Amino acid sequence: MSFGRGAKVWAEEKELGWIEAEVVEVRDKSFVVETPQRKKVSVSVEKLLPRDPDAEHGGVDDMTKLTYLNEPGVLYNLARRYGLNEIYTYTGSILIAVNPFKKLPHLYNEHMMEQYKGIQFGELSPHVFAVADASYRAMMCEGRSQSILVSGESGAGKTETTKLIMQYLTYVGGRAVFDNRSVEQQVLESNPLLEAFGNARTIRNDNSSRFGKFVEIQFDANGRISGAAIRTYLLERSRVVQISDHERNYHCFYQLCASGKDAEKFKVGHPSSFHYLNQSKTYELDGISNAHEYLKTRRAMDIVGISLDDQEAVFRTIAGILHLGNIEFSPGNEHDSSAVKDKVSKFHLQMAAKLFMCDAELLHKTLCTRSIQTHEGNIVKALDCSAAAAGRDVLAKTLYAQIFDWLVDNINKSVGQDLNSKMQIGVLDIYGFECFKNNSFEQFCINFANEKLQQHFNEHVFKMEQEEYKNEEINWSYIEFIDNHDVVNLIEKKPFGIISLLDEACMFPKSTHETFSTKLFQNFRNHSRLEKPKFSETDFTVSHYAGKVTYQTETFLEKNRDYVIVEHRSLISSSKCRFISGLFDSFPEETSRSSYKFSSVASRFKQQLQALMETLNSTEPHYVRCVKPNSLNCPQKFENLSVLHQLRCGGVLEAIRISLAGYPSRRTYSEFLDRFGLLVLEHMDGIQTAAEEAKHVEVSKLQKSLELLHAELNAAKFVIDGECNRSSSLLS
Ligand code: ATP
Ligand code: MG
Repeated sequence: MSFGRGAKVWAEEKELGWIEAEVVEVRDKSFVVETPQRKKVSVSVEKLLPRDPDAEHGGVDDMTKLTYLNEPGVLYNLARRYGLNEIYTYTGSILIAVNPFKKLPHLYNEHMMEQYKGIQFGELSPHVFAVADASYRAMMCEGRSQSILVSGESGAGKTETTKLIMQYLTYVGGRAVFDNRSVEQQVLESNPLLEAFGNARTIRNDNSSRFGKFVEIQFDANGRISGAAIRTYLLERSRVVQISDHERNYHCFYQLCASGKDAEKFKVGHPSSFHYLNQSKTYELDGISNAHEYLKTRRAMDIVGISLDDQEAVFRTIAGILHLGNIEFSPGNEHDSSAVKDKVSKFHLQMAAKLFMCDAELLHKTLCTRSIQTHEGNIVKALDCSAAAAGRDVLAKTLYAQIFDWLVDNINKSVGQDLNSKMQIGVLDIYGFECFKNNSFEQFCINFANEKLQQHFNEHVFKMEQEEYKNEEINWSYIEFIDNHDVVNLIEKKPFGIISLLDEACMFPKSTHETFSTKLFQNFRNHSRLEKPKFSETDFTVSHYAGKVTYQTETFLEKNRDYVIVEHRSLISSSKCRFISGLFDSFPEETSRSSYKFSSVASRFKQQLQALMETLNSTEPHYVRCVKPNSLNCPQKFENLSVLHQLRCGGVLEAIRISLAGYPSRRTYSEFLDRFGLLVLEHMDGIQTAAEEAKHVEVSKLQKSLELLHAELNAAKFVIDGECNRSSSLLS
């Protein structure tokens, strides 16, 4: 693209991403532009993009209405709207939601829900209720299941958005009578319950979901909610035993500590007295009362249908986990053995055993020894202090993960599935793409999930675009879009994808992360998406759709192996509490210590994702991209670079690129005439009649008008050129 003097442009800039400017000088290979602050900068043509000089002050509610649908146009449109508390904007059918970080009650009340009910998409201001309504209407009209995919980075507002969608769907699909135990009420109350056990404070978000969730709401033929099913993905287990500064463990622990009588009953005091909680000194959350939250969790358990006995057992086990974490070990009498350290640790061991309703001596033995099968029979081997502490943490993590799964199963059983339902709306709230300084197995799985979702998104957006052109009978050439099949294959393909190689490594006790990495590089020596970073022998870098991520493999093998240690299983199944003794029933067992029989976390996740993709493929998708405007979680602050990065990762810019490759601007026939008609005034009469006949655009007609315009302009240019030539010859 070339720009003349006076052209209004966007100039790429380091700190703000893009800045507004005007071309003041055209040089050989560059341009001098001037910013509104009168600063002059020299810029090359690749760093300039056209800017709409008359961009509306308040921005446009749909990006496709922008005259220039480019990256800075999109960015500044969002920023302008955000400044006016307009947090929602469409990009075609995708809804972008910028987190306001303040309560906007007027946006979400019943009156608002009523307003959006049954309304044509796009008729009212962009809103998450409009997306929920569009999916509900489409389901009712076409009898086809729908899905709403909510994505974004941590703290961007996915969970809040998901809850608003569920609130809307239960509003339009609920039975008017209020009933505490109605399916819709149970569906809604599953949220605070799962948040209590699956959310925690992180440095990014006070209420960060540490698991992925797909809630499928089922409807009967009349559009009434008749059942629901929740699927969850990859709960972060390490948090139970290890937390960083300023973060917290799962909310339920602090709630229990503040629960008064129950805390007393289970001998649970202030969180600072427990190792699993006091590794970080953050115990409270701004504006939240742990005691009050405990009551809310118990109420949610009531509504969801968890019996009082089971509720008691759940919190007893949670208390047991806290006491378990306080058991410390000191070297035992024999070489490399361990013993419970002191009186305090003995107290906690007694308490843990009492709460788990198992024998204290057996718990002691479970923690400090392992039995090993040999040719001569079983022998008992002592564990040294660090092995005993590691085993204790594994027990705590496994118990916690099983409680979480039990809760999900129970919510599902209690809400009940409507197996006859032919219409469902699924809502997906899953972690966004992650790239930290250190990336481990968790980031690998999360980014794999994002690759799969991106693949689905690209294919869908691309397909929609194609269909639009077909409807408008426009000839258009094939649009290429970033195809990420190769990364997906690199990760999941059998038998030589990264996951397969990892599983293979996990099967051999002699494998290490070094042997795994060597194998990886041998297999993918020339793969365009995989590289070996310069300064490490064992890290690997994957070129994801959203950028390169280097993964540290040190804990990959251990994190991928999922099994219950034989001694842990015996201990838990000996519990006199039915709830506890059943917790490990569904778990694969570690059969012998020389060959690892394990369940692969990555492979299970891959299967879950496959099932999710199959579900999504059978539905009509709707997308909500949540954006976190700043890293301080405060209102009215908009950081350009971070938002740009998120738009890139969320595929919004890619969707725009696809759109740009075709016909990005969508104007109605009359809008087009309003703007450009004056160029061909003499033709207006005929065209205007046509505009009245066809209220909405038919792009093919628009194209014809454009051709006409072109012809007119060329003719005019011809006349002007002629005039110029004439005047110059006269002058000479
Ligand atoms: P994570 O991936 O860490 O779970 P998330 O994307 O689910 O993050 P949320 O927990 O939904 O993020 O949102 C973070 C916080 O942002 C909320 O606790 C709330 O304070 C605020 N927030 C999000 N959306 C809205 C909204 N629509 N209105 C007001 N506040 C919001
Ligand atoms: Mg969340």
